Amino acid sequence: MSEARMSDEQIAAAFKDTDAIRKGHFRLTSGRHSDTYIQCARVLEHPTLTMRLAAEAVARLPKDLEIDLVASPAVGGILFGFAVAAALDKPLIFSERVDGKMVFRRSFEVSEGAKVLIVEDVVTTGGSVKDVSDLVEENGGSAVAVVSLIDRGADPLFSAPYYPLLQLITPSWEEADCDLCKQGVPIDSPGSRRINK
Ligand SMILES: [Zn+2]
Repeated sequence: MSEARMSDEQIAAAFKDTDAIRKGHFRLTSGRHSDTYIQCARVLEHPTLTMRLAAEAVARLPKDLEIDLVASPAVGGILFGFAVAAALDKPLIFSERVDGKMVFRRSFEVSEGAKVLIVEDVVTTGGSVKDVSDLVEENGGSAVAVVSLIDRGADPLFSAPYYPLLQLITPSWEEADCDLCKQGVPIDSPGSRRINK
């Protein structure tokens, strides 16, 4: 029995309905500034919806793509990575930063020659995805594809084939070019409750 497929409109609605798209002044993980923040945690707090999105992401992968293992960067990628791994019935490992360097802890291993699907929540420049991909390859595996919930539409830094579930073109820019900074608008913390919609 397979779950009903999701259309692009239904995927976009999941983000609107859960209030995941925030307006303000943000510093993204990439270091770039933006007036839009996509708080995937608001979507991922709903397990059934998360599992449906993951099943759809898997259904959109090429049928001949071989995957042995799913790897996600902590923290953002873990929940969606788990859901995608469940949909694939494959193991999930996650990487963490220690003193800025991406590493696998917790006795996670990548076996020699493992074909690894990298899963992230939001990709702006894909710096974390590139770091996980490099880490997988240093460990003898290969990053065969990348999946994310959201592609913010910047040029990705990684080279593996990329299958974002939803492309939301939301501008971001270097801090030096930020008009919001020049106007003295304080940076919003995405976790903050005071963020206005
Ligand atoms: Zn700024």
